[in-house]
Amino acid sequence: MSTATATAAPRPLTLPSDQDASGRTLGDEEIAMLTEAIRSGTLTSTKGEFTKRFETAFAELHGAAHGHACSSGTAALHCAVAAVDPEPGEEIITTAITDMGGITPILYQGAVPVFADVCPRTYNVTAETIEARLSDRTRAIMVTHLFGNPCDMDPIMELAKARGIPVIEDCAQAFLATYKGRKAGTLGDIGCFSLQQGKHITTGEGGVVITDDEALARRVFLFINKAWGYGDQNPDHYFAALNYRMNELTGAVALAQLAKLEGVVARRRDRADALTGSLGGLAGISAPQVTGGAEHSWWKYCLHSETPEGSPKLGAFLRERGIACAPRYIQKPAFRCQVLDEQRTFGASRWPLHLARPEAVDYSEANFPGTFEALERVLVLPWNEAYTDEHVEHIAAAVREGAATL
Ligand SMILES: *Cc1c(COP(=O)(O)O)cnc(C)c1O
Repeated sequence: MSTATATAAPRPLTLPSDQDASGRTLGDEEIAMLTEAIRSGTLTSTKGEFTKRFETAFAELHGAAHGHACSSGTAALHCAVAAVDPEPGEEIITTAITDMGGITPILYQGAVPVFADVCPRTYNVTAETIEARLSDRTRAIMVTHLFGNPCDMDPIMELAKARGIPVIEDCAQAFLATYKGRKAGTLGDIGCFSLQQGKHITTGEGGVVITDDEALARRVFLFINKAWGYGDQNPDHYFAALNYRMNELTGAVALAQLAKLEGVVARRRDRADALTGSLGGLAGISAPQVTGGAEHSWWKYCLHSETPEGSPKLGAFLRERGIACAPRYIQKPAFRCQVLDEQRTFGASRWPLHLARPEAVDYSEANFPGTFEALERVLVLPWNEAYTDEHVEHIAAAVREGAATL
């Protein structure tokens, strides 16, 4: 006779985590590549093969003409902004629900980040919210495909093309997400990815930029390499740039990780579909809304609460069940952080924000109804390719039970 059924306490279940081996695809393939890189004795990507192979394979996977690896997602976005080369005080339209790594590069290149509001249901910027922030100083648009759900890109590209404004895609959370059959990172003019610990594939830190545009690719390459004209007849340091190179150890791991990317995304999709399937008909809580014509790549799985109280309340319930979720995601819009709110940049200069039009830095709540509503309603569940049916059912049961208490 089993006594296990008599004691009804739910069995503790630990979910695989992207912060350690339980939820990462790091294994023998990475070790083998890394060993090869170390034995080669060449650890700089200016001379070695691994980073170059990764760049080529990453670009090929996306059908992009050029790929350049760098040291982080932030570096990748910095390269993209530097490639666009704004004049000081020109504006780059972006979102306030993103990683700060998408915003500080704009400041470092002397441009003013101008925040477009977001759709309160998908949490992404739209052509309408971007259009409302356009000015004669707009130099570029940077979109974030938040949580792996692509922005509705056709109307955004139509708007941008009509005005000759380049579009940078922040794909740090959207590896292999698609929109109308095309991959994120190839929808705009230049696509940026991160290989940080918690992304779909990882090297701990790392980044990569793809583009079809020869001139942009050239500037990205130079910006990674102190703008030194490697291979030119009369090389020089052509402009102000940093060393943002990926090293060969990272390149070797990145190459091994890349081979696993399609499998990771496919499993995340399958797992997400399973959860969505078992959450139908819940009152007060909805499954993520995927952009029309898009395939989500499920960096996270976001529940949406129909009331402001629902998200923190359900969040507390889920955490009691061992599900490490994040009500409100980044807690506050980026413009409420000190760097922007108090304009803390270079010394006491406030540069380049002191050049901004007053409307461009007016962060009044009334200008951002969608942004505030989105952060109030979202409940971010960690998501992972290693979730088993049991893990998904554990999450689904907890969500159903928690939703019933709202
Ligand atoms: C992770 C992330 C970044 C920054 O990447 P790092 O590699 O951490 O510098 C930028 N944008 C978004 C949307 C991200 O999720």
